Amino acid sequence: MDKIKMTTPLVEMDGDEMTRILWKMIKDELLLPFVELNTEYYDLGLPERDRTADQVTIDSANATKKYGVAVKCATITPNAQRMTEYNLHEMWKSPNGTIRAILDGTVFRAPIMIDSIKPVVKNWEKPITIARHAYGDVYKNTEFRIPGPGKAELVFTGEDGNEMKQTIYDFECPGVLQGQYNKDTSIRSFAHSCFQYAIGTKQDLWFATKDTISKKYDHTFKDIFQEIYDAEYKEKFEELGIEYFYTLIDDAVARVIRSKGGYIWACKNYDGDVMSDMVSTAFGSLAMMTSVLVSPEGNYEYEAAHGTVTRHYYKYLKGEETSTNPMATIFAWSGALKKRGELDSLDELVAFAEKLEEACIDTLNDGIMTKDLVGLVEKGFNATAVNSRDFILAIRERLEKKLA
Ligand code: NAP
Ligand code: MG
Repeated sequence: MDKIKMTTPLVEMDGDEMTRILWKMIKDELLLPFVELNTEYYDLGLPERDRTADQVTIDSANATKKYGVAVKCATITPNAQRMTEYNLHEMWKSPNGTIRAILDGTVFRAPIMIDSIKPVVKNWEKPITIARHAYGDVYKNTEFRIPGPGKAELVFTGEDGNEMKQTIYDFECPGVLQGQYNKDTSIRSFAHSCFQYAIGTKQDLWFATKDTISKKYDHTFKDIFQEIYDAEYKEKFEELGIEYFYTLIDDAVARVIRSKGGYIWACKNYDGDVMSDMVSTAFGSLAMMTSVLVSPEGNYEYEAAHGTVTRHYYKYLKGEETSTNPMATIFAWSGALKKRGELDSLDELVAFAEKLEEACIDTLNDGIMTKDLVGLVEKGFNATAVNSRDFILAIRERLEKKLA
């Protein structure tokens, strides 16, 4: 069989620990035998980030801007303990944070669903994708503990010296005080990424804030989304038969629980933080969560939602067998290859990516899974736990049949 050709390079960002081990296995067993992989390789493993003073992370993000599609392995975000473990020169910032800042993107997280593992919410039949605006609000706040009676004021001084001032509260006792901000530019980018992703995946887009209470702050989010939708995306949405739907956050929560799924839920920063943990837990396992960063210009970076699975890696280093789930990492590859194929009009590459995903789902439906999933399987389904390598080999067997 001739290997499938690629035209434009895919940006490949390698990573750390157990996911770095899986990364190689996935390439060796599921990709390289079938595809003439054309990637521009960046090693975001911690030793190389340290050696290059993190320049490699910046270069990989710029390459994503240039080519449009990247696939990323999970990476360590250093803390004090990693400083000694890896003998680092500096406590390098989170690569995901650096890449997100350069691409100005929004992260979309969606679960991989299988027949034998049902969501906790019975009526969810399709994935719910959460889009979190990962900028500003309470994550960039300024806050005080108020020691006692006194007046709290909100002041803005314009460049021209003009002042806007309002009393927040006349404190008669100790209390707390907080200042938050966001920027139109960031909200606009968020809106564009959401509309782009909805079009790309042909799904409805829901957005919710508390604009009835927050008449300036949250209302600005609502207005910007509506303005951009009307001006740039309405026609395309109507053509595709998809909907942009705005509601209040409490109404959204109720509707989400009663829904069948199958849409994108755009959330402000805090709502997205909280709701993505709730939704991903209700769907099953972090190891089955995919994640893609989409920039407002439509650049895509695919990855797994989980980390480097350190606990399993230490076992692996001791020579013990591990049953780490590679599903989300495989789907990062298939997602990236599919997008590359769509952009370059390579039908064969798109078909390959789809068959790879089917082979994964078939393997799980045949009851062959990693340990983390076996405990989640519904009564009446048979499931056997295998190690990571055997799981990947079982996928390969099914993939070869599909490609033959
Ligand atoms: P983690 O790597 O997601 O793992 C937490 C636990 O979740 C694991 O110990 C394991 O539970 C389970 N798990 C996660 N993924 C799994 C998989 N594919 N298969 C089976 N089980 C899985 O989170 P962490 O331990 O908090 O973080 C480890 C490192 O990852 C940190 O250095 C952190 O900075 C980094 N991180 C990177 C990213 C990213 O690059 N996007 C995201 C998050 C964290 P059991 O141990 O119970 O089996
Ligand atoms: Mg959270």
